[in-house]
Amino acid sequence: MENLKKRIQQLKKKRPGYKEILNFYQKIREEQEEVKPSLKIKSIPLKKEWKDLLAKEGFSLLEKKDFPLGINASLALFSSLCEIGEKANPRMAQQVKKIEEAVAHKKIDLKKAFTGGFEEGKIEKIAEEFGLDKKVLLFLIQESIRPSIEAGTEKLLNELNTEAWLKGYCPVCGSLPHLSLLKDAEGKRFLLCSFCGYQWRVDRFFCAFCGNKEQDFLHYFCEEGEETYRIDTCDKCHQYIKTIDARNIEIIDPALEDLATLHLDLLATQKGYKRPAPNPWVT
Ligand SMILES: [Zn+2]
Ligand SMILES: [Zn+2]
Repeated sequence: MENLKKRIQQLKKKRPGYKEILNFYQKIREEQEEVKPSLKIKSIPLKKEWKDLLAKEGFSLLEKKDFPLGINASLALFSSLCEIGEKANPRMAQQVKKIEEAVAHKKIDLKKAFTGGFEEGKIEKIAEEFGLDKKVLLFLIQESIRPSIEAGTEKLLNELNTEAWLKGYCPVCGSLPHLSLLKDAEGKRFLLCSFCGYQWRVDRFFCAFCGNKEQDFLHYFCEEGEETYRIDTCDKCHQYIKTIDARNIEIIDPALEDLATLHLDLLATQKGYKRPAPNPWVT
């Protein structure tokens, strides 16, 4: 957490326009750190067949709902995140209050929302039914269970070898990547799962979303002097992914670097590209 705070400090100096959202980010991360020691996430048993499945068919190993959760920690986190949200900007505060009311009146069953594996369709329906902001609700739920999900993924790390996977979706949970990273001297490329945080290797020239490998359709752009962060675009499906070159900076927290470069997402949108796994912090 100390390193993370230092990095947030650096980023605030470099990009003062991000100060408010970075403060918000830090507060939420602090709460998430705090629940970690109380989490007792069991290892997810991997059957041998699953490994075969992974190698042969290209299915992912788990469904989102298969991840074990620390329910009490997630519930506690939900209330602290709501508290932080209430002190954020007025729009967020208003939305959070409405959500809290819906929970208090038992219109939303939080345990169900958590263990339902955070299925967007379901959460969307709940939000619509009670006139709540879908993105804020999703954000609160996702960030409340994130420490559990990531603890589960961490336990799987030593058991998995997904070098041969090479697909555009996560081998563990099947979700889309929200970021891509370049690592090692050769610039090996990895995708980062938007749900469970797993990282897997892919080809350098490849659109994660439509599988396109034709280089004529794959481009990227970045800001001058900021080559660490770039937007990789695909002109077949008109979607993009943000890539962080981890050879240039020590990445303490990819989600933080993503948040501090929202101006690149804006540029990509203006150029007509879509981001399939949106930045959850933009609510
Ligand atoms: Zn995943
Ligand atoms: Zn594509």
